[in-house]
Amino acid sequence: MKLLEFEAKELFREEGIRIPRGVVVRKGEDLPAGVADLGDQVVVKAQVDVGGRGKAGGVMMADAGNAGETVHHLFNTPIKGVPVNSVLVEERLPIEHEYYVSIAIDRSQKQPVILFAETGGVHIEETARTNPKAIRKVTFSPLLSDIPEFLLRELAGNVQAGVRDVVNRLYHVFCKRDALLAEINPLVTTPNGVYAADAKLIIDDNALARQGIAVNRDLTEREKEAEVHGFSYVELDGTIGVIGNGAGLTMATLDLIDHFKGRAANFLDVGGGADQERVKYAVRLVAGMPSVRVIIVNLLGGITRCDEVARGIIEAGVSQEVIVRLAGTNEEEGQRLLAGRGYRMLESMDEAVRAAVEAAA
Ligand code: GDP
Ligand code: MN
Repeated sequence: MKLLEFEAKELFREEGIRIPRGVVVRKGEDLPAGVADLGDQVVVKAQVDVGGRGKAGGVMMADAGNAGETVHHLFNTPIKGVPVNSVLVEERLPIEHEYYVSIAIDRSQKQPVILFAETGGVHIEETARTNPKAIRKVTFSPLLSDIPEFLLRELAGNVQAGVRDVVNRLYHVFCKRDALLAEINPLVTTPNGVYAADAKLIIDDNALARQGIAVNRDLTEREKEAEVHGFSYVELDGTIGVIGNGAGLTMATLDLIDHFKGRAANFLDVGGGADQERVKYAVRLVAGMPSVRVIIVNLLGGITRCDEVARGIIEAGVSQEVIVRLAGTNEEEGQRLLAGRGYRMLESMDEAVRAAVEAAA
């Protein structure tokens, strides 16, 4: 899971890395009084999980006088389509130089890998493309609790010791926080010392419990409910509700919707052997999302029995049309039950998905 910049910075700070003084503002809140203490010039940064945020307009320079307006502007400007729910206002650092550093795992070497560039900042992807040699790289044994000094020199050359020190501290964060990626871009020098002007930290999802981070904090209420009941369920932004069994069939259904130029509102994988009760629950859950206009149920009966599925659909009794494609165990009985209640049952997946896309339009 990727942390937001201000969360990552807090963890960096705990490890002795200097970060700019700053204040987090959440949507709907007034500008905190602390903003006045940040100095005459500030940087206002949208807290969104988006690469190239600065270039996309998510990082703005402001004066103390118009910080409020700038914050307001960011709350009303999605960055690459992602809505902004929190903003970080920071003192503006007098930057002398921007470096790039990141730590990840090199899976082929089974070792941590550190990348470092003398020219960091928003153009690092371009540098990686046009001048890959400018990004230096070292791997070393994960049994070492510090990056060996000679490797730091190989990596960062003769840059000031303060920069090398931050790279080593970043490695401590990386280990302690079970990170998959720890990055500072830019890592900056100023007349007052070395700072992490930006911060990126991706925590291994398997370590979230150990790190005390809620596993499902980014989920919607309905997604959390689905998780409790053991369904794989994801919400999207279209109008067709999708129920399938098995990840493959569910994904194939989504691909077909896309093929017929429809858009899924959500999708739910009921898993193997779903009985009447689970199907009923699944249909109601999917139908409960207000944007769902029509539901397609695409199930293959193996352990799952089609008659159970049909009963579940009928019992759910949702207001939206439910279009069904059922094949496999007890298929005839399932079809008979559904037909008796006026449900549209289509033989092939193509037909069923096309019907759902048409019904949604
Ligand atoms: P990103 O685009 O999401 O990586 O956003 P960053 O936080 O890295 O900011 C993008 C760029 O804004 C940096 O590379 C800097 O050039 C500039 N920037 C960010 N913070 C400051 C600051 O405190 N002072 C100055 N002068 N520039 C800053
Ligand atoms: Mn950055």
